[in-house]
Amino acid sequence: MRITEHIHALRMPFHVEDPFGQKIPRFVYVYIICGEQICLIDSGTKSSEKEIFGYLQRLGQRPDAISLLVLTHSHPDHIGAAKVVQRESGCMVAAHAAEREWIEDVDLQCEKRPIPGFHSLVEGSVRVDCVLQENDTVKVGDGLDLKVLHTPGHSLGSISLFSEQEGALFSADAIPIVGEMPIWEDPAASIQSIEKLFALDGIQVLLSAWDDPREGEDAYRKMEEGKRYLQSIHETVLRVGADTDLDLMELSKRVVKELGLPEAMANPLTARTFQSSLRSGTTAKR
Ligand SMILES: [Zn+2]
Repeated sequence: MRITEHIHALRMPFHVEDPFGQKIPRFVYVYIICGEQICLIDSGTKSSEKEIFGYLQRLGQRPDAISLLVLTHSHPDHIGAAKVVQRESGCMVAAHAAEREWIEDVDLQCEKRPIPGFHSLVEGSVRVDCVLQENDTVKVGDGLDLKVLHTPGHSLGSISLFSEQEGALFSADAIPIVGEMPIWEDPAASIQSIEKLFALDGIQVLLSAWDDPREGEDAYRKMEEGKRYLQSIHETVLRVGADTDLDLMELSKRVVKELGLPEAMANPLTARTFQSSLRSGTTAKR
């Protein structure tokens, strides 16, 4: 799907398993930026390269036209096909320093942040050639620059990218989606990151990894909603956690129930999120 003159969005469906072995349908967006060079933002899960290369072919481009793959962070649905995309295209791979270790060693990531079916989502490790940090500029050619914004919280080295020329903000997983699984490592940093993105002038289209494109005022509204959603979950975790000495999974079940979220959301990933909220205490309350 073409979003702006230079930007294309690919919605990539995949499945994750809940703790009961049930498959839960999810999706992630991969973005293709066609300037003089082609830049990909994230790679999708394992085997997504077929979809990406097929799309490029329809644009009259070959895989080796991809010169850069920017990984917004190290989670499986973003790096899953990175190894094959890099191998087939010969592109450079870029990411924030804080994500590098888990991109370059996916077994280590799986050990430290286990999720069911990890290896069915990720092809393998890939080397990071280029380390990105706050205020860097990624030049795609055709006068198209992407400004790098460090937006930690969802993960320590999560980055967003902003194209002022096209008013396009690539927010990856920085903005929680109301009703979806809450995932963060640091709720206070997450809130600050959402506020930082909200303060950007001239966002015409919000291109999240886990939401459809949102235009104009809707973009800013999604950021506010995401922030409120995060805060309400965080406060519920603190309240439930203060009243009881439940173990983490029991606490997760209680929180999920109180928030009216699907039971399957009481899983190891949300438990990890709730644990980070308990650790950070009241610092994320505003
Ligand atoms: Zn993520």
